[in-house]
Amino acid sequence: ATPMSVMVGVGKAAEHGILIREGDALQTSSKLDTIVLDKTGTITEGKPALTDILCAEGQQEDHLLQLAASLESGSEHPLARAILEAAQQRDISPDRADNFHALNGKGVSATLNGKSYRLGNRRWLESEGITANLDSSSLTERGATPLFLAEGNTLLGILGVADRIKEDSRDAIARLKDQGLTVVMITGDIQASADAIAKQVGVDQVMAEVLPEDKAKKVKALQDKGRIVAMVGDGINDAPALAQADVGFAIGTGTDVAIESAAITLMGGSLHGVADAMAISSATVRNIK
Ligand code: ADP
Ligand code: MG
Repeated sequence: ATPMSVMVGVGKAAEHGILIREGDALQTSSKLDTIVLDKTGTITEGKPALTDILCAEGQQEDHLLQLAASLESGSEHPLARAILEAAQQRDISPDRADNFHALNGKGVSATLNGKSYRLGNRRWLESEGITANLDSSSLTERGATPLFLAEGNTLLGILGVADRIKEDSRDAIARLKDQGLTVVMITGDIQASADAIAKQVGVDQVMAEVLPEDKAKKVKALQDKGRIVAMVGDGINDAPALAQADVGFAIGTGTDVAIESAAITLMGGSLHGVADAMAISSATVRNIK
């Protein structure tokens, strides 16, 4: 490999807003056969908004939103921001929460006025012995994420939160497939919501309900099958998987931890940057040979 052609490739990439920190990444990119894309903030905008409140018998929307906002006031999660913004828009102010806990990939719990509450995904609430007997399919079939709210063991309702798909995700994924890559989406979100997004953007395979600490294991499992894997992500959650991948691509608008864990940073945040990097990589390697 001539250092000169790698330098030219790195310069060319920079012109496209692709910052390559490790020269090797450019050459490794030409060997990739699988690309794993994080969902939230990578395929989607990562700015979820509250879209629906489904009330259990006898419950009222504003009351549920007030409880949810109180529970989320200590959380930094994008889902929490969506709930808090919606409450603010309706002039609902959160109550003081005690014993606040945020559980990675599950949800939040706290005590409000002496009663214990949980807000999170169905699997977690059910594992805590709560019967989550409200139908969320009207949300999940649109790709929205249902957050189940319970007081003690009683389900009060569901808050639906949805995130817009980036306008060019679909086209960029089509280019990656044309380049011969298998495109996989990975997310902590539930299968039904993930499948709805996957269908809209045309990915080949979905890995849903993956706990944050398991994303890197999923990348490793693909590598153990002989795949050469790129990971694309934006979040703190994605950092170990970005480091595990043969090439890690961080979304430039994402968290610093993700950027530090990845060999390549996409300044614009568009997935076209990955397809551009692949094209530059194969041109560079052709020159080297
Ligand atoms: P992602 O891969 O989409 O970034 P996470 O691993 O952060 O997802 O979260 C996975 C799931 O855990 C969410 O879809 C949600 O159901 C639940 N969850 C995580 N954090 C919260 C929170 N602060 N409030 C409610 N639910 C949460
Ligand atoms: Mg993300």
